[in-house]
Amino acid sequence: MKIAFLGLGIMGRPMAANLVKAGHEVLVWNRTARQHVDGARTAVSPAEAALDAEVVWTCVADTAAEERVIFSEDGVEKSLREGMIIVDSSTISPSATLRFAERVNAYGVHWVDAPVTGSKIGAESGQLIFIVGGAAEPVEYLQPLFKAMGKLVLHMGDTGKGQSAKLCMNLMIALIYEGFAEAFTLGQKLGVDVHKLVELIQASMVRSGVVDYKAPFVLRHDFSPNFPLRLMHKDIHLMLDAAKENRVKLPALETVDEIYELSSEEGWDDLDFAATLQLLEKWAGLGRGK
Ligand code: NAP
Repeated sequence: MKIAFLGLGIMGRPMAANLVKAGHEVLVWNRTARQHVDGARTAVSPAEAALDAEVVWTCVADTAAEERVIFSEDGVEKSLREGMIIVDSSTISPSATLRFAERVNAYGVHWVDAPVTGSKIGAESGQLIFIVGGAAEPVEYLQPLFKAMGKLVLHMGDTGKGQSAKLCMNLMIALIYEGFAEAFTLGQKLGVDVHKLVELIQASMVRSGVVDYKAPFVLRHDFSPNFPLRLMHKDIHLMLDAAKENRVKLPALETVDEIYELSSEEGWDDLDFAATLQLLEKWAGLGRGK
């Protein structure tokens, strides 16, 4: 299949590489030219990348970035043809997704929102989970591409439902991680062996995939980015915006948002979101906060 892949960050680059490995013809584009993908040609603009593509796949930072790659002067919109499919694996606003979809639908183009979970390791190993919103026909057509990059496709409903479900899921990741970070901090102050604490957590009813993924990094105090703090913070704002639009109150998430605000002020935006632990440790006088 001819695919334009736009956005070669932590997630997009290995996703595009897996499409190449599966034998697809991939043309890539990234805002800054520093990134390339072996076996794929590089386009000078989103519009050029999309020119002959059957499918345009995006994986960029946020709602503004998505709007830029699709609708700006040299954006994908300039190359839209009836029957094309745009797939968005960025995590962006569900309400903006509906606006974007409506605008491209006028050209006879399908919009499928397909945000992912699995982080950097899942993207590199082709083990992502796609959380999909869109019409049945394009979603079915995309199956070989989902298969090349992921292990599971969950079709949540119409356009926008993928983004909505992804936000709900990430809300739990943010809260579960902060719960773990608080237990980890209190445990240290109480003199508990943290390796044994993690063993206990994972053997008990609070065991969690979030702890599975993050504990090895936390135990090494390695906060190199798998899912950068700035992106989880962006997602928290998307959740709070969606809550406001729908008259929902999320008090625990509001508190966690404050932790992210302060972590951002500490200059930790480009570290992994697990770095929020350092704030708790600093407040507790544990002396490892950087
Ligand atoms: P990343 O490494 O920061 O990459 C972001 C990408 O977006 C880069 O290609 C960047 O281009 C591009 N970009 C940013 N602003 C742009 C703009 N205004 N116009 C055009 N391109 C722009 O992020 P990532 O980790 O790959 O995440 C990508 C998306 O997947 C995000 O929505 C994130 O929330 C979501 N996600 C991430 C993870 C994870 O664990 N990392 C997991 C699930 C979902 P430059 O290279 O030029 O900066």
